Amino acid sequence: MFYTIEDSIRLSRAFRQMPCEVSEEVRGWNWNTYPLAPPSQLKLSVSDIFNGFCDSWRILYLRYIVRERLDERDIPLPLVEGSFIHRLFTEAVRYGKAILYREDVLDARSFREQFERVCKNKFDELYSDFKTIPLERAEKIFLRVWGLAAHTYSSSLDRFKLRSPYLVPDGLASTVIPLTTESPIDGSLVGLNRNIRPDAVLWPATLIELKTRQQHSDDALALTAYAIAFESEYETPQNFGVILYVRFDNDGGGFKVYERIIQISDKLRTTFIERRDRALTVLEEGIDPGQPSECSPHCPYLKVCSRDDR
Ligand code: SF4
Repeated sequence: MFYTIEDSIRLSRAFRQMPCEVSEEVRGWNWNTYPLAPPSQLKLSVSDIFNGFCDSWRILYLRYIVRERLDERDIPLPLVEGSFIHRLFTEAVRYGKAILYREDVLDARSFREQFERVCKNKFDELYSDFKTIPLERAEKIFLRVWGLAAHTYSSSLDRFKLRSPYLVPDGLASTVIPLTTESPIDGSLVGLNRNIRPDAVLWPATLIELKTRQQHSDDALALTAYAIAFESEYETPQNFGVILYVRFDNDGGGFKVYERIIQISDKLRTTFIERRDRALTVLEEGIDPGQPSECSPHCPYLKVCSRDDR
């Protein structure tokens, strides 16, 4: 979950074993020609298109045409817990780097101690936005993830300190913790919002997405959307990305992480374009597309759609 430079090298080796041919017309830098050129001036977030909830796109109609407001209490617990884990991940990476930028932290032990010292305050701060999660479960999840970050990056710090005691804080922070979380990408050239944010970018440029739910075909498509937007803005190829599935057990005391490497293939890119165009058309038309044959039990609009006959 908390990738190190060694993980980055391991992944690069794995990518090299998996040749990936990509047609030039579906590279993000060809955003202004068919088939990548968006059919509308409207913009969408990645989760508007690839949320794994609503095959009929009614969710878009409710969000942007009806402007239905959600009651916080109606948001299913797995979604709230997923947001909590994402925030915790981002904060652990940020805090680890903040420690490393302070030159007085010289060794792994003091790095770990600083993580432990702020543990209680950090939990209270984060939990205040996620109070629908049972307290005991939230505490267990927090301690597991926070502890893993402290352990992973204190060991990483030790390894780099052995290599050279003279590393400056900037170089040290970026090699001990080679992740940038929620780095904004301008997706506007390919029909997405101006500030879309993948969960993390692993040095040198691997897009990482965290998922806390069961696997869904939309997961690889969401990663593809970020990859195409990245190519459109930075003109740098994105042939692979990684999805990390984070699964906590029932009481929140233990968890497993499964790594899935995704080839950003022509097929995924073409499906991204089809789905994006369909979503933009639903918004342009502003007509209720109706309900799909099956609604996801995790859709936050379940109450809305079951109470009315729009
Ligand atoms: S409840 Fe069903 S129809 Fe309504 S937004 Fe969710 S998935 Fe779509």
